[in-house]
Amino acid sequence: MSPLALVALGGHAVLPKAQRPTIGRQFLYTRRAMRQVLLLVRQGWGLVITHGNGPQVGHILIRAEAARSKAYPIPLSVAVAESEGEIGYVIQQSLYNELSVAGIPRPIVTVLTQVLVDRDDPAFQQPTKPVGPFYTDAQAAPLRRKGLPMAYFQGYGWRRTVPSPRPLRIIEGETVRKLAQQDVIVIAAGGGGIPVAEVRGRLVGVDAVIDKDLASAVLAQGIQADVLLLLTDVRKVALAYQTPGQVDLDTMTVAQAEEYLAQGHFPPGSMGPKVEGAVQFVKAGGQRAIITTPEALPLALAGEDGTQIVP
Ligand code: ADP
Ligand code: MG
Repeated sequence: MSPLALVALGGHAVLPKAQRPTIGRQFLYTRRAMRQVLLLVRQGWGLVITHGNGPQVGHILIRAEAARSKAYPIPLSVAVAESEGEIGYVIQQSLYNELSVAGIPRPIVTVLTQVLVDRDDPAFQQPTKPVGPFYTDAQAAPLRRKGLPMAYFQGYGWRRTVPSPRPLRIIEGETVRKLAQQDVIVIAAGGGGIPVAEVRGRLVGVDAVIDKDLASAVLAQGIQADVLLLLTDVRKVALAYQTPGQVDLDTMTVAQAEEYLAQGHFPPGSMGPKVEGAVQFVKAGGQRAIITTPEALPLALAGEDGTQIVP
């Protein structure tokens, strides 16, 4: 059986921060990332791909908001499902084309993925994750009166905030594992997955957003991946990031990573969940996790680039 890699594409790995999101750019940057992924296929890796959805889900919500009097409203869980379809399609087609041009065609499927969270997760008492459009004071006032949690961003305006509970279980995880075992390339758990909770033995969608790095770690555990690759826009994780004393890390053990996390080197909204996900995966028996860019991926797999997180 081929070794199995879970490749998590950061939103910023496929859509640079400075770029306004468009479908054309999504294809452009996804194609670039898929050329690196192609090298993994050539090396004989089985693949499961996850991805972020920040800009896309934001724009889905902006469309829904702008069309409020003409189209039915959608809950956040449905917006996440829609974004998995949109991004899954872009990745599926881009990778299909790369593989067929290279003469190594593979079946590729996108799995709409539900991820179980606990309705009693403390995150539900503290909605911290900003999503969707910015609102002016006047637009925000009635929403805030209705009790919708919102946060103010100086210079930009108000934005809705939603809870980000911890992922507990990937509902379609076993299906993803079986497909990957049959050499199907699977795109799953996009945007952290569609958040669902169990209510009296049944799944229901909840208004939340699950961190995609943590969901990727849970999925990597579930499919018994050999390596967890977290791809973003920095080649290495650093200590004292963006200070004169910055130190790029080649390797960190789980114990070191936990210490650095506790010292506050990795902020909650960006590098924090990646390092946390890497630690969780390796602690659960994974051989290693790597945090790097798509470009550095081949060298990083050979242990010569990126930051390796090891037991
Ligand atoms: P993604 O969309 O890939 O999840 P994020 O913005 O969430 O991207 O996380 C990657 C970002 O984390 C980098 O662009 C970098 O600016 C930031 N970052 C914060 N702390 C660190 C650190 N200690 N080392 C490296 N990058 C860091
Ligand atoms: Mg991120």
